[in-house]
Amino acid sequence: MLTVDLHSHSLFSVCGMFTYMELLTHAKNMGISVLAITDHGKAVGGKIPGTFWERMQSPIPEVTLLKGIECNVLDDFGAIDLDESKLKWIDIVLLGLHKNLPIKESESVNTNRLVKALEKNRAVDIITHPNDPNFPVDFRVIAQIAREKGVALELNNSKILYGRTTVKHTQTMLEIFAREGVLLAVNSDTHAIHELGRDSEVRPIIEAVGYPDDLIINRSKESAISFIENRRINKV
Ligand SMILES: [Zn+2]
Ligand SMILES: [Zn+2]
Repeated sequence: MLTVDLHSHSLFSVCGMFTYMELLTHAKNMGISVLAITDHGKAVGGKIPGTFWERMQSPIPEVTLLKGIECNVLDDFGAIDLDESKLKWIDIVLLGLHKNLPIKESESVNTNRLVKALEKNRAVDIITHPNDPNFPVDFRVIAQIAREKGVALELNNSKILYGRTTVKHTQTMLEIFAREGVLLAVNSDTHAIHELGRDSEVRPIIEAVGYPDDLIINRSKESAISFIENRRINKV
């Protein structure tokens, strides 16, 4: 189980089903010490209230709340749906390819979109689910730009849990990431409450590949907070 989970969705994602308090209370009951709530950006219907950014503190003291967003790539030129006026309150910025863009485009088109987005947006901290077969990417190119920018790549438990990708494809990805020595975030991508902190689908893949523990940013509360603090310079 993950004690630090950096990717979860609430009701404000539309596709999520639980409130902030339900997510945080469940996290506390499970022994999760850090939870990032990362609702979707506007391009796929996310409706994060302004008060979340400006006024929400960790309402459950046992769980450190990281205020996040999962942004969307918007075009071929590096645009993403991040409201930079909110950056001073945002702890963590995730970015992924989602269905606001056409699916099943070529590897080169998708890879170029992510590379451009990373070049233009230094606030991005984690690239989500690069193993999504709807948006195939060149794992080596993505790993190299992520390493250059100090960005982490995600190993997403839900994509395997719901059969949206395969163990084989994910293991191939992880072997390339390990070879390139890139930072990794192991996340649940929770939408339903029982998914919170879950890593049982990806843990055997991490072990099979022998991914270096010191490259996993959420291996502990200390390592995750240190990653967030080091990245904060990109948000001012
Ligand atoms: Zn996503
Ligand atoms: Zn997500």
